[in-house]
Amino acid sequence: MTESCGKCIPCRAGTAQMYTLLTRICNGSGTMEDLELLEGLCSTVKEASLCGLGQTAPNPVLSTLKYFRNEYIEHIVHKRCPAGVCNLEAPVEVQA
Ligand code: SF4
Repeated sequence: MTESCGKCIPCRAGTAQMYTLLTRICNGSGTMEDLELLEGLCSTVKEASLCGLGQTAPNPVLSTLKYFRNEYIEHIVHKRCPAGVCNLEAPVEVQA
């Protein structure tokens, strides 16, 4: 959190909370409720922040929620990282 100037709460506190929720999901301890919270928080930060930094900070998260929601769900439900990036069990390759 070295980028936010801290002037407005949506950016200052919201991005920190987004990071906490993302970390929880990535380490396998996230819940479906966290996913809903994350999505709502992204919208709030985007709409309520005072400048472009806060207004655009949630964009990467919103894009991944839009295009890779199944991977979020895989982390939460099956505690697996399909891309093998997070410190979770990588998916097992199925031999044809
Ligand atoms: S949105 Fe802009 S004004 Fe608000 S805390 Fe972030 S950097 Fe500062």
